[in-house]
Amino acid sequence: MDELTESMAPVAVQDIYARPLKSLRLSVTDRCNLRCNYCMPEPEYVWLPREDILTFEEMATLVGYFADLGVDKVRLTGGEPLLRRDLARLVRLLRQDRRITEVALTTNGVLLSECAQELYEAGLDRVTVSLDTLRPERFRQLTGRDEFARVQEGIESVGKTGFTNLKLDTVAIREFNEDELSPLIEFARHYHAEVRFIEYMDVGGANEWQMDKVLSQDMILDALARRYGRITALPDRGAAPAQRFCLPDGTIFGIIPSTTTPFCAQCDRSRVTADGLWYLCLYAGSGVDLRKPLRMNERPERMREIIRSGWAARRDRGAEQRKALERVGLRDRGLIEIDRLREDPHLEMHARGG
Ligand code: SAM
Ligand code: SF4
Ligand code: SF4
Repeated sequence: MDELTESMAPVAVQDIYARPLKSLRLSVTDRCNLRCNYCMPEPEYVWLPREDILTFEEMATLVGYFADLGVDKVRLTGGEPLLRRDLARLVRLLRQDRRITEVALTTNGVLLSECAQELYEAGLDRVTVSLDTLRPERFRQLTGRDEFARVQEGIESVGKTGFTNLKLDTVAIREFNEDELSPLIEFARHYHAEVRFIEYMDVGGANEWQMDKVLSQDMILDALARRYGRITALPDRGAAPAQRFCLPDGTIFGIIPSTTTPFCAQCDRSRVTADGLWYLCLYAGSGVDLRKPLRMNERPERMREIIRSGWAARRDRGAEQRKALERVGLRDRGLIEIDRLREDPHLEMHARGG
């Protein structure tokens, strides 16, 4: 892996709509130790073949090519990224490239207390824990596992390390956890964290998704304004997925309104799966195989050209297209049938990292 002194200065590349290539979500595994019913509702899954899963060195090499073209932020995700043994080693490898200014992690938190300190020392910048409920029984019902206590321990452990910017991501679902918006805000405040409510998305294997389960940004704001009073929107989110808001007492929270208010126009994000397929959009039906050329030892110029030309031709606006389907009453047609998901597990949210 190149040190800063040896690596080239980034050459910025833009897609068809002038969106830069900036942030990369790197899925390190498609396996998970929970079964959230909005993400993995099926009893059985087809997993990516083990021999196809990239080594940490291969991942770091790929990230280096992305950094050559302007990527400066990497988020480790999955499946559950902490299932990958010694993830801190990958963090250290990525941290050697100083063009990568931020390495972040999205985790369900179950294994976090065991490795938060080590990840911090390895140079991880940010942790986001996904947490949809504070009620152990509801947690079990949602995830199929009785792990709420371990997630809470994981959240507590983050505060005991040097991390200062913990985020809690909550998928807000009508008639499921809509009564927990303000308890989650209070919980986050207690742990000096910022909660972000995510609208339920009709993505990948979310086959239980229905529009009437989506707790929209407007509904969330109405409910919180009734509880706390006037809510102020903070300045424009730019390319960040979350719009941030402030309560009268200064507490900040975010909403990621991907379903009702897509932010595709600003999207600088792409995804690499654990087996090295590159997806230009969360909703993309197919990806670019980077594993094959990488394992064939393609020259760096060729690898960069594959990525550069892929991004330059990008016209994806997946969430906006779903929204357009909704206008003509066809949104449900966007869901992917179970047989197709079994044929190509890359279509699953847990394979492409959310
Ligand atoms: N397992 C890790 C976790 O849960 O944080 C990382 C991978 S998970 C796929 C990444 C994020 O995607 C999580 O915050 C999860 O809540 C979110 N997610 C999964 N399915 C979703 C859906 N149908 N709608 C909205 N968010 C979803
Ligand atoms: Fe839940 Fe994340 Fe696992 Fe999906 S990948 S089932 S969101 S913990
Ligand atoms: Fe980006 Fe695709 Fe999500 Fe739109 S739907 S914000 S283009 S990843």
